[in-house]
Amino acid sequence: INNADLAMYNVKNRGKNDFEFYDLNMRNKLSKEMLIKALEEEELELYYQPKVNGVTGDITGMESLLRWNHPEKGFISPAEFIPLAEETGSIIAIGEWVLKKACEQTRRWNQMTNSSLVVAVNISNIQFGKVDFIEMVKRALKESKLNPKYLELEITESIAVNNEEEVINKLILLKELGVSVAIDDFGTGYSSLSYLQKLPIDTLKIDKVFVDDIVKDDTIAKMIIDMAQNLGISVIAEGVEREDQLNQLLKLGCGSIQGYLFSRPLPAEKFKDLLIKGNQL
Ligand code: C2E
Ligand code: CA
Ligand code: CA
Ligand code: CA
Repeated sequence: INNADLAMYNVKNRGKNDFEFYDLNMRNKLSKEMLIKALEEEELELYYQPKVNGVTGDITGMESLLRWNHPEKGFISPAEFIPLAEETGSIIAIGEWVLKKACEQTRRWNQMTNSSLVVAVNISNIQFGKVDFIEMVKRALKESKLNPKYLELEITESIAVNNEEEVINKLILLKELGVSVAIDDFGTGYSSLSYLQKLPIDTLKIDKVFVDDIVKDDTIAKMIIDMAQNLGISVIAEGVEREDQLNQLLKLGCGSIQGYLFSRPLPAEKFKDLLIKGNQL
């Protein structure tokens, strides 16, 4: 291992395809077994971050964000364990659990508060690439009894690097199901307009890095918002922390907002309280 903070390598004497993940700073060691166990022992939990109408403060939906509350190591960030889950394949089981859980929760909340919240679920490229991905989505919808129009999947630009045709076919199937799709972290990849035009997607999600600087330089954010308008699709900004960023986004025509300015990701109970209180931030 070099002196990078995070290094992943195969521990040969632990058997085939058995990866371990070392965080050299914290001396933490995460393994595939731990991830599977986390799922079985209910150490994984979904938090929900509101998506709001930036003008009215109305909650229009929420993004589900995975949390791992490890009994000894405490809270472990998804940025740390999702890559391991992808590397070891446990992302398949975890991802299906996430989708089903988020759908069930949303069906209950919509029923309870008589609302039409759309839940956004992050999908890993590994998950999306599975031949039975669409079947898995159908299964989650069926088991949760959620109307597909209340489900949105967040994928990233890098999804169609290979197998563009297969990706497009799957996106068409999702559209037929009534599920919507957003391109997450938009602008950090290398999608051209002509490439984007081929993808049947519903929303571009402006990455936080472009929101961070937006007051000083709004070139990229403006470009993305105009691009969405030209494609006839929606746009949302993530990582909005300050009033001046919100105002700039509103000025550019982006009214759909997510970020600490309105709310951090919340545990399900807290999110529910928010809904009961009146669906507004
Ligand atoms: P992401 O999809 O880009 O999610 C946005 C991240 O920014 C979240 O971090 C969220 O908590 C954080 N965030 C939201 N608003 C603000 C803000 O105003 N300021 C700042 N500084 N941060 C903000 P989180 O929850 O740690 O998730 C990190 C990444 O892990 C996510 O990035 C996503 O790529 C991945 N992830 C989370 N849950 C899942 C999941 O269920 N499945 C998969 N495949 N990936 C997931
Ligand atoms: Ca996301
Ligand atoms: Ca994002
Ligand atoms: Ca991001």
